Amino acid sequence: MTVAANLGFPRIGARRELKSALEAHWAGELDEAGLLEAARGLRQRHWQLQAGQGISHIPSNDFALYDQVLDTAGMLGAIPEGYGWRGGPVSLATAFALARGARGTAAERSAGIAAGLPALEMTKWFDTNYHYLVPRLSAGQRFELTENRPLAAFREALPLRTRPVLLGPVSFLLLSKTEDGSDPLGLLDRLLPLYARLLGELAAANCAWVQMDEPALALDLSEAAREAFRRAYAALAEGATPDLLLTSYFGPMADNLATAASLPVAGLHLDLVRGAADLEPALDLLPPERWLSLGLVDGRNVWRCDLRAALGTLRRVAERRGTRRLIVAPSCSLLHVPVDLAQEGGEGQRGLDPAVRSWLAFATQKLEEVAALARGLDEGEAAIAQALAASDRARQGRAESAAAHRPEVRARLAAVTPEMARRAGAFPARRAAQRARLGLPDFPTTTIGSFPQTPEVRQARAALARGTLDAEGYERRVEAWIDEALRWQEEVGLDVLVHGEFERNDMVKYFGEQLDGYAFTRHGWVQSYGSRCVAPPIIWGDVARPGSMTVRWAAYAQSRSARPVKGMLTGPVTMLQWSFVRDDIPRAEVCRQIALALRDEVTELEAAGIAVIQVDEPAFREGLPLRRAAWQAYLDWAVESFRLATAGVRDDTAIHTHMCYSEFNDILPAIAAMDADAISIETTRSRMELLDAFAPRPGGGEEAAWPAEIGPGIWDIHSPRVPEAAEMAELLRLARRRLADWQIWVNPDCGLKTRRWEEVRPALEHMVAAARTLRAEAGGSGTGTA
Ligand code: GLN
Ligand code: ZN
Repeated sequence: MTVAANLGFPRIGARRELKSALEAHWAGELDEAGLLEAARGLRQRHWQLQAGQGISHIPSNDFALYDQVLDTAGMLGAIPEGYGWRGGPVSLATAFALARGARGTAAERSAGIAAGLPALEMTKWFDTNYHYLVPRLSAGQRFELTENRPLAAFREALPLRTRPVLLGPVSFLLLSKTEDGSDPLGLLDRLLPLYARLLGELAAANCAWVQMDEPALALDLSEAAREAFRRAYAALAEGATPDLLLTSYFGPMADNLATAASLPVAGLHLDLVRGAADLEPALDLLPPERWLSLGLVDGRNVWRCDLRAALGTLRRVAERRGTRRLIVAPSCSLLHVPVDLAQEGGEGQRGLDPAVRSWLAFATQKLEEVAALARGLDEGEAAIAQALAASDRARQGRAESAAAHRPEVRARLAAVTPEMARRAGAFPARRAAQRARLGLPDFPTTTIGSFPQTPEVRQARAALARGTLDAEGYERRVEAWIDEALRWQEEVGLDVLVHGEFERNDMVKYFGEQLDGYAFTRHGWVQSYGSRCVAPPIIWGDVARPGSMTVRWAAYAQSRSARPVKGMLTGPVTMLQWSFVRDDIPRAEVCRQIALALRDEVTELEAAGIAVIQVDEPAFREGLPLRRAAWQAYLDWAVESFRLATAGVRDDTAIHTHMCYSEFNDILPAIAAMDADAISIETTRSRMELLDAFAPRPGGGEEAAWPAEIGPGIWDIHSPRVPEAAEMAELLRLARRRLADWQIWVNPDCGLKTRRWEEVRPALEHMVAAARTLRAEAGGSGTGTA
């Protein structure tokens, strides 16, 4: 019989129960026992649900209170000094201090956790929007098995016999950082005995299968890393272990496939959604006595599976190697999709358009698809006739939907000329025209767009949504907040003002809600990190802009001040990156559609007298593909999209962009090719080190230098701390060492929506003071030209 398997289930809960429990615990309203009980309840519910969907290889140990990589590090005793760990199982206080930084709570004090300890670094889990905590390993790191988590999970699920998930030793090390910068793989030999023990204990408990996650196999690997795989799995094969299913996902293993296939494990999982090219070589490489797990159902996106096509693939595989030892599965863990489409209401209910809804599958539905495929192979098409028919209908519905394929959108895209992506004048001419129009001092001051989203602001938006506040009343309030923000910015002496983005719930959602082709769910939450969830918009159809989106507010704000007010837009790449994107046309094409919609908005803003237009692209870098060889193709269309959105303006209209938490070293040519007049970036924490990429290389000519203006952030807005003017001035001096004075803008690291006015007021006063100090120091020498 073909095995129906899952690789991981979302742990947050259909109603974000885990989020509520965690946040209640952190607020001191739910004790540790209560939190653990809530977590246990979720695990039991999810195991039952998966069994009910016909899944026979059900994952356990895929759960984590905060993050599975943090739990793995804790299990292996990879816990930095000071966090209150003295051997044995890691306490919740220690784990949460590692996850969120020490907060000075009573629990932390009694666990001996030093106040003010920072959280572990957090970064994206491969190219998903999930973020994991990066294990921090010391140079002489000793590991210690603090508990056998997969075994505990296996036992907890009994009598259901689950397949525990374990982050494999090589990926664990490759995802970690060492304090001295040495190669973490150097620690492999110290780690392997712990893995051997984990697996030995699982085997002794009669656990039949363990899922060894080694997603690093989808990355560019050095020969040393491949050798680490061979060494690790040879060592593990010496002891008693359950059958190991080696799982990689998020892309083809490609040049790592031969290594993966050579490892002495019982089976191999392939992501056939993103790594379909692996299938043929894998069939050649894998002998029939090895198990093959086929990730046919997209674990990362919300579309229904084309069951007929997937069944076809499955049949071809069965013809090649027989029907034995086959597993059907989602392409990767379902962590990255919402829990259950059933919550989105059916026909006639408010919310998702029923047609769009019928094209979707969330985690629960994806498991049904997996089970149907396994059954279809074993029992024939007739046994799954209904599922096939529903899948066919969805595919046909999508293909025939007039709103998903709009001739006028396609025609416009086809008519795009290279000139449309090119500004009229070159940067030096533009800069002269812009400076003449704006009349700015040297080191001009501005902010990134948003001002605090106070409870009052959020309540008004909620009241508007509920219908207890009418549109008229809402607009008057937003205008009043804008007026107040403008007056205050003038008083403080900022040079380029912002309206404050009070009308925006979220920088992607606000635009998506006003564009055709976007849909929104009510409960489509996915975990971003810890208790933080996002409900990404779904781009299902051709994107078009039925009307202006921000012009009303920008024009109002500009009418209320004599100083320039920036227009604020979210860029095409970020609009794409933070959404679930249709999979029936290339992402690049969707991005260009969004770009053209934004282009019209930019044109209207310019016509409304807005002289500075900022197009935010915080997600630009995170769109980079996992493999280097694919970078350039991505950068080409991403840059082109930004330029399409922005290049239609006159020379005297300044295009700014903003990117936070990014490193620019290896992509600066692409950033420069966006041809913005100014960029603002986040540089406070790195003390301007990130600026190095923008500075002219000694003797390097223009090649790696950023040619335009730049605002290196001088206030870390992620912290409630208000920096002094002297600190900010010092950062600006560091910036002056790397840049010409004429290039430098003065601004915070990012928008201020999560801060309070009590912090914003003094911090921006200090920022303006710092700019004045710099002007005095530069003594007018800064009026140089580009
Ligand atoms: N303009 C946005 C703001 O100020 C930018 C947010 C971001 O970069 N994430 O809120
Ligand atoms: Zn930002």
